[in-house]
Amino acid sequence: MSKVHVFNAGPCLLPQVVYDKAVEAIKDFAGTGVSVLSISHRTKEWDAIMDDTRALWRELLNIPEDYEIIFLGGGASLEFLYVPMNFLEKKAAYLDTGVWAHKAFKEAKGLGNAVEIASSSDKNYTYIPKGYTIPEDADYFHITTNNTIYGTEIKTDIDSPVPLIADMSSDIMSRPVDVSKYTLIYGGAQKNVGPAGVIFAIVKKDALGKVSHYIPTMLDYRTHIDKGSMFNTPPVFSIYVMHETLKWIKDLGGVEVMNKINVKKAETLYDEIDRNSMFVGTAVKEDRSIMNVCFVMAPGKEEFQDEFLAFAKSKGMIGIKGHRSVGGFRASLYNACSQEDVDALVACMQEFEKMHA
Ligand SMILES: *Cc1c(COP(=O)(O)O)cnc(C)c1O
Repeated sequence: MSKVHVFNAGPCLLPQVVYDKAVEAIKDFAGTGVSVLSISHRTKEWDAIMDDTRALWRELLNIPEDYEIIFLGGGASLEFLYVPMNFLEKKAAYLDTGVWAHKAFKEAKGLGNAVEIASSSDKNYTYIPKGYTIPEDADYFHITTNNTIYGTEIKTDIDSPVPLIADMSSDIMSRPVDVSKYTLIYGGAQKNVGPAGVIFAIVKKDALGKVSHYIPTMLDYRTHIDKGSMFNTPPVFSIYVMHETLKWIKDLGGVEVMNKINVKKAETLYDEIDRNSMFVGTAVKEDRSIMNVCFVMAPGKEEFQDEFLAFAKSKGMIGIKGHRSVGGFRASLYNACSQEDVDALVACMQEFEKMHA
């Protein structure tokens, strides 16, 4: 097979060493003679992985003592429901920055009083709303830090007068985060820290237990804190692969180093998009995501879209077709995507420009 460059939006590319470790563990987990696919989650070998995975999260993101880290199945979409279940009493405020943000809002709205305080839907979510006021009487303010489909990102930890909750599915571990500014950070692993099948929640413990309604056992974060994320069978294999991915990030030097690499990759590609006469970016410059880079054919060049997709494919580029709601192209530059992959895409764009000059 010839060399391919994977820019899939999710499930994401993972480091080769992680694939190798996963294969090894499928054959023999931690010298037990049992595959990780069949290991009991009630063994000391598995306990060690759970403990170490939590410890890696804590170390890499500098998570304060009074926060708990939870791993569950179900998808980030299920956490859209966990949020109002655990935190909505009187009123919730949401920032509408795209499809995922709006889906999160919909669950809160279905369960109680929720408002979208600002939206960028007027321009197909190509920017992050600014100058909005967060209502002081809200139980929480919900944001989606990286908008995977549109390539916009809230790159700094914002100040909020009410508890801040963030879906960080597609930029978690791409940069340092001041966890103390958030009451809850959640997401799916499959965009940047592992395979599909496991979700994470980093929650401030004393913020829980404040709602008066019944919370179904499985949807109560306290259930999973009490049982160390093993109230029921955890997604063992997905957690194992996440563990190996976190070890890889740590070995590289942690999230600060990861961020430098990611910023460089994104700059390389954005610089080419801005320079190349065949393409234009879709997101406003100040809100450009370092994880998902969205671009389209330049005005007057639209007819070349399919040709470019085919050309890029012939050069080994995988997964650069844009989401159907945006069109054009999207290159997801998650942690495991290398500078070399980005350079290959840039070379491909330059060659395409020359062909049409
Ligand atoms: C992909 C994605 C989701 C949904 O994740 P699932 O695990 O498929 O439910 C939610 N939020 C964001 C920002 C995403 O990118």
